[in-house]
Amino acid sequence: MRTQVGIVGAGPAGLLLAHLLGRDGIGSVVVERRSREHLERRVRAGVLEQGTTDLLDTAGVGERMRREGMVHHGIELRFGGDGHRIDFAALTGGYGITVYGQQEVVKDLLAAREAAGALPLFECEDVEPAGLDGDRPAIHFIHAGERHELQCEIVAGCDGSHGVCLPSAPNGALVAYEREYPFAWLGILAEVAPSTEELIYARHERGFALHSMRSPVLSRFYLQCERDADPGDWTDERIWDELRTRLALDLASGPIVEKGVTPMRSFVVEPMQSGRLFLAGDAAHIVPPTGAKGLNLAVADVRVLAAALRDHFATGDDAGLRAYSDTCLRRVWRAEHFSWWMTSMLHRFPDGAGFEEKLQRSQLEYVVGSEAAATTLAENYVGLGTA
Ligand SMILES: Cc1cc2nc3c(=O)[nH]c(=O)nc-3n(C[C@H](O)[C@H](O)[C@H](O)COP(=O)(O)OP(=O)(O)OC[C@H]3O[C@@H](n4cnc5c(N)ncnc54)[C@H](O)[C@@H]3O)c2cc1C
Repeated sequence: MRTQVGIVGAGPAGLLLAHLLGRDGIGSVVVERRSREHLERRVRAGVLEQGTTDLLDTAGVGERMRREGMVHHGIELRFGGDGHRIDFAALTGGYGITVYGQQEVVKDLLAAREAAGALPLFECEDVEPAGLDGDRPAIHFIHAGERHELQCEIVAGCDGSHGVCLPSAPNGALVAYEREYPFAWLGILAEVAPSTEELIYARHERGFALHSMRSPVLSRFYLQCERDADPGDWTDERIWDELRTRLALDLASGPIVEKGVTPMRSFVVEPMQSGRLFLAGDAAHIVPPTGAKGLNLAVADVRVLAAALRDHFATGDDAGLRAYSDTCLRRVWRAEHFSWWMTSMLHRFPDGAGFEEKLQRSQLEYVVGSEAAATTLAENYVGLGTA
């Protein structure tokens, strides 16, 4: 098998890259270890920045998102039992976010790949990039019981936080920066209409809580929990009680159809490129989800990479590829800082009673009381420009 760009991973990053390259007439093959059904059911992020929705629109995959996505122009911060609205539109010159599930973005991208006759190769095993520091890279894998070698010019590592591309980079070429947080999020999806029109981020002495939504009949909630929490210990009754207490809200409840624990981690690898390997999305960086940045960063990386590959294949101009890592890392570190800041301000830290708690409260009061501080939150949340 031969192609121009071999892509590992059919998450939002890999699928969008294949789609953008296809529109420019650049060949690619996406190698994915999961089934299509699994990808289309995987519930994860759901907040899209304006830059993300604009890109999906111009790439011709935004039609259903525009119809079904919910546009929000603010969020609520809740602490001390009171809610305070951060008005994104007023603070950022009209910008907002769109609430549209990541699995819906993935469905739309897969439909576009199918229409182009270029679906990923699903359920691949033993995926292994090779020859990344030479000029003949390849991806080895087993598909439908047969061993294959995909020869390509460029390998795009879009295989998420537990992928094979980052560990395949030549030894010592990349440096990792990392922070683990001493808690996790219990995320649930419930078949109930949202009890609020906009997202609510709550800081409570029992821990953080978030009320989000996916559609007029599906709500998404998160509760700060222990790092090693077992979702089985969280009965439906316990979850609803805890949400009502932390959100200080008369919540409507409904059947819980999905429950999972996500550890909180910050991670960046530099540079995001080594030889013929270019990393994009979660393969290169992880943010704690408090800032709603993971999916948006993946899309921003792919925008830069697709443009650089267009120049490379059209004219042989590699300036874009050489600048890829530096260009992306500027946005990545801004998002890393914002996500860390939101996480630090809103969570209960095991050793944080007393002094830290007073600082958090002071920071929250400043954010809701000062236009300058509220603008900092708003402009970071809706997304600072495009890379
Ligand atoms: C459990 C979880 C919950 C999350 N919740 C939120 C949230 O609530 N809000 C938020 O903003 N962000 C959230 N995120 C982050 C957000 O979903 C990610 O930032 C986003 O998925 C990044 O897209 P990606 O394409 O880079 O990676 P991914 O979506 O992870 O896609 C990587 C793809 O590569 C495939 N793959 C992995 N290894 C291999 C291999 N060896 N061979 C072939 N294919 C491989 C995977 O199956 C996957 O399809 C969450 C992430 C996780 C893991």
